[in-house]
Amino acid sequence: MPILVDPDARFASTVQVVVIGAGGAGVTASLAASSAGASVLLLDRDATPGGATACSSGMVPAAGTEAQIARGIADSAQKFAEDIQTKANGSADAVRVKALTVASAQVLEWLHKQHKIRFDLVEGVAPGHSVPRMHALADRGGATLLSAMYSALGAHGVRMRTSAEVVDLVVDNAKRILGVRYKRNGTVEAVGCEALILACNGFAGNPELIAQYLPDVRALPFAGHEGSQGEALSWGTELGAKLADIDGFLAHGAVVLAHRLPLPWSLMTEGAVQVNRDGERFINEHEGYSESALFVLAQPASMAFMIYDERVHEIGLTMPNYATAVTSRIVKRGASLRDLADQLGVQRDGLEATIGLVNALAFDDAADEFGRKFRATQMLLGPYYGVPVTAALLGTEGGLAVDVSGRVMRDDGSLFSNLFAAGGAARGVSGDAAGGYLEGNGLLSAVVGGYLAGRGAAEVVAR
Ligand SMILES: Cc1cc2nc3c(=O)[nH]c(=O)nc-3n(C[C@H](O)[C@H](O)[C@H](O)COP(=O)(O)OP(=O)(O)OC[C@H]3O[C@@H](n4cnc5c(N)ncnc54)[C@H](O)[C@@H]3O)c2cc1C
Repeated sequence: MPILVDPDARFASTVQVVVIGAGGAGVTASLAASSAGASVLLLDRDATPGGATACSSGMVPAAGTEAQIARGIADSAQKFAEDIQTKANGSADAVRVKALTVASAQVLEWLHKQHKIRFDLVEGVAPGHSVPRMHALADRGGATLLSAMYSALGAHGVRMRTSAEVVDLVVDNAKRILGVRYKRNGTVEAVGCEALILACNGFAGNPELIAQYLPDVRALPFAGHEGSQGEALSWGTELGAKLADIDGFLAHGAVVLAHRLPLPWSLMTEGAVQVNRDGERFINEHEGYSESALFVLAQPASMAFMIYDERVHEIGLTMPNYATAVTSRIVKRGASLRDLADQLGVQRDGLEATIGLVNALAFDDAADEFGRKFRATQMLLGPYYGVPVTAALLGTEGGLAVDVSGRVMRDDGSLFSNLFAAGGAARGVSGDAAGGYLEGNGLLSAVVGGYLAGRGAAEVVAR
């Protein structure tokens, strides 16, 4: 993935803005740049793009939206920023957090009014958020969201080239981007541009970069999108860009690995618990799914089991990933805890003792040794359900440091003149530690960060 320094480079074709990566960040950036009047070419390596965005829940957090106001929910960018910083222990970049939270409602309204992509407010409060703040299309899911965005791209006349893997960036002596070279159908093509947006996600799918930057999570199996190979990081490093929050990551402690299926962690807030093969709990499941991953990894055979009852199961059925797990026959049902334990291969006495204690705590509205508070309304009553899960790495949260408009920073804090990054290619808002990921941070950085980068790039080319 070299940087080619060629101040005299000539290109057979040119466009104002090139965007690398057609996931949530790249598509929103392309729409934003195009809506602001720039000509755009969007390139993606895959024949049928989707990226990590297509694997996600498609729920975008936003504060102060019309949908929230209509439901009488008082929210603000500041409250949203506080929730993000609480989860990140204050280590998320305050400037980036402010830029994304302030723009969040505006971006969803813009997608609705300009591009007919309408988000509804999702019922319930996601873990770590202080109010209902997740927004999704009526047909949930990341793939549905992207497909609506691809339709908007088509309607807006944005050109997208698939099966187009960008291999080199071409720059002048001052490291101003002049264009890119990409492989397509066995040949290398080149296109010149006035601004470049890196929207090719992070480096979670690249074991060498994981070993170099995130050795602690090296043992986690990868269940994200294979396209997260870290080109933005490599190009940025070679250009002298600043890297930020490189220790941050997105993992998940309840993944059905054979299907690369993260189960909805909100089932934990509804009353589900997680046990190991001995039937013992080992974490406060309300702390969040990303930081739970390393605890799951440390359990016997690196396995855990989500245990819950019919009430929680019914709630789960409204969520696409859980419904998929049910139709794939991964979810087991037992008339009694002993029956369920046998089906799951969990120690019977251990499971009975654990659920007995959970219900006793719930009866008293009390907290356990891990700090989880149980509620009387969430006692677990038969029939019981369970599903075997493991932990997996889904993405990285660190990346290229950027300013409010997504413009990439050099190591000395100055800005590249025409290089932008968004989504997983840029630093996120999860700070620099394991537990910093607040649900929705990924799509916030992709969709809202993509919009800001698209607008920023269009401004640069309009000058
Ligand atoms: C299983 C899973 C579930 C998740 N669930 C959630 C969730 O519920 N909520 C949430 O907020 N976040 C979630 N995330 C995280 C979220 O999906 C990502 O943070 C976000 O989608 C990243 O968007 P992106 O556009 O930066 O990257 P992507 O969507 O991955 O898009 C990057 C694109 O770049 C392309 N590309 C890469 N390199 C090149 C190259 N050299 N040339 C051309 N193209 C290239 C790839 O093919 C890909 O299509 C989840 C992630 C995973 C893996």
